[in-house]
Amino acid sequence: MSFLPLALFGTLGPGELLVIFAILLLIFGSSKLPQLGSALGKTIRGFKEEMRQEAEGPSKAPPSENAFGFCPKCGAPRPDAEAAFCPKCGQKLA
Ligand SMILES: [Zn+2]
Repeated sequence: MSFLPLALFGTLGPGELLVIFAILLLIFGSSKLPQLGSALGKTIRGFKEEMRQEAEGPSKAPPSENAFGFCPKCGAPRPDAEAAFCPKCGQKLA
């Protein structure tokens, strides 16, 4: 029987996670697994979310319906960047 190489933890795939899960099962026993699993799930979800945001880049803002500004007269949201007049009150838009 050989020890798992420490490098294994640098490249976590589904198989490695399964191995770690099996080890945790041996260590903690089945009674604590539900709470352990939920904690682990939250950690992984948070990690994936961070990875996703990192990949998209911090400068990219999510598209918003208010991205084109508002009518200066009535405050209605501008429907698109090409709109010359407010659809609500007819105010000419800059
Ligand atoms: Zn308006």
